[in-house]
Amino acid sequence: MATAPRTRGTRPIIVVGGGIGGTAAALALSRRGRRVVVLEQAEDLTEVGAGIQMPPNAFKAFAALGVLDAVQRIAAYPERLVLGDMPSGRAVYQTPIDDAFVNRFGFRYALMHRGDLLQILVDAARASELITLETKARVVSFADHGDRVAVATEDGRDFEGDAMIAADGLWSRTRATLFGDEPPRTDGYVVCRGVVPVDRVPPSLYSQTVTMWGGPELDLFHYPLRRGEIYNIGASFRDASLVPGSEPPAVTRELLAQRFAKAAPQIRELLPYIDLTRSWVLYDRPPLPHWCAGRVALLGDAAHPTTIYISQGACMALEDAVVIAHCLDGTNDIAAAFRNYEKRRVLRAARIQLTSHQFGEIYHAVGVNRELRNHLLAGLRPEALCDTLAWVFGPAGADCVTTAATVA
Ligand SMILES: Cc1cc2nc3c(=O)[nH]c(=O)nc-3n(C[C@H](O)[C@H](O)[C@H](O)COP(=O)(O)OP(=O)(O)OC[C@H]3O[C@@H](n4cnc5c(N)ncnc54)[C@H](O)[C@@H]3O)c2cc1C
Repeated sequence: MATAPRTRGTRPIIVVGGGIGGTAAALALSRRGRRVVVLEQAEDLTEVGAGIQMPPNAFKAFAALGVLDAVQRIAAYPERLVLGDMPSGRAVYQTPIDDAFVNRFGFRYALMHRGDLLQILVDAARASELITLETKARVVSFADHGDRVAVATEDGRDFEGDAMIAADGLWSRTRATLFGDEPPRTDGYVVCRGVVPVDRVPPSLYSQTVTMWGGPELDLFHYPLRRGEIYNIGASFRDASLVPGSEPPAVTRELLAQRFAKAAPQIRELLPYIDLTRSWVLYDRPPLPHWCAGRVALLGDAAHPTTIYISQGACMALEDAVVIAHCLDGTNDIAAAFRNYEKRRVLRAARIQLTSHQFGEIYHAVGVNRELRNHLLAGLRPEALCDTLAWVFGPAGADCVTTAATVA
């Protein structure tokens, strides 16, 4: 049995999944003196995909994980968040990311390449002697024996731990085993995204902003990454034929041009820069009331997959990581610690899931809804978005543990 060495008479915590949530959890636990074994099915701990937006609440988690400096060195920082109307090409709402924003929330709003973010977490995990990272370790079963968990991988290895934290993503087998095998839900949006070196983007198409162009059942977004060296451009559109589990469709230049034919000219000019080598179908799930059972807990997308429209999926996984480690700190009553974690997190994550869904409807509004959106947004004060999302970003000085415990 490939049991990791024990610490202070306890078994390790087994973390299933080495994505952003799993590695962050390992790091958070190790910083509280817990030994951790991460079991990741892939050959490497890498991320596919492009940019990821990191609002201030993510930075509170980075501080708790000890990776704040590393993140700040590589992030890019927008001057504004912009919502534009795709058919007219007009910005209908803008909010500055300025000193007032930082004073209010404690940190800037940052942008990262998701590969850079995972690398920072993995490097920090590798530097900890309390963390063992196992790749090519696909978990196929687990059993909660009351005083310990037993976890088996596809290649025949067995692991024993004090507890199991399942950070196994959207299609979590752990979630299915504990809480039922309902598929995630999709509105049929498919997204293509990628990065280009910033010097390849014509200056007229570049801006130091996070810009989201909302169109009828469409959107296009762009922002700089990696200290401003690369530019993230993505587009999504609705394909009503997509159902949960559908293979992401092959998106061609012709299809993209056809879908975005009614976009304003300056938006269509960005289409050739979008990487079409891969596409993703977007999913979420309705909020789940329970995330744990005995010595097993869900974390990240396994617990609360979220649409992308307020950029919080990974942020929630980071917060979960900090909170679960906090709840496990200094106690041997794992089940009670997991219930405490669940209590602190469920309502906040549920509110994020619901709010994100509503933002998607606003971005993709059609017909009179679009006109109403533009009219209402044009009348808003620049701080209105920050007021609306203040409960998400959290006040300056609040750490992620206490902030995450509150819903409003
Ligand atoms: C287009 C797009 C844009 C996004 N933008 C943002 C954004 O701007 N900001 C933000 O905060 N979030 C964003 N998100 C959401 C964010 O990417 C996710 O919420 C986050 O990556 C979830 O991390 P996770 O670790 O929970 O899950 P995952 O990243 O899915 O990791 C799960 C890991 O578990 C492994 N695994 C699965 N099953 C097993 C098994 N049986 N055994 C072993 N290993 C297993 C997988 O291989 C994987 O490595 C975006 C998502 C998408 C799709």
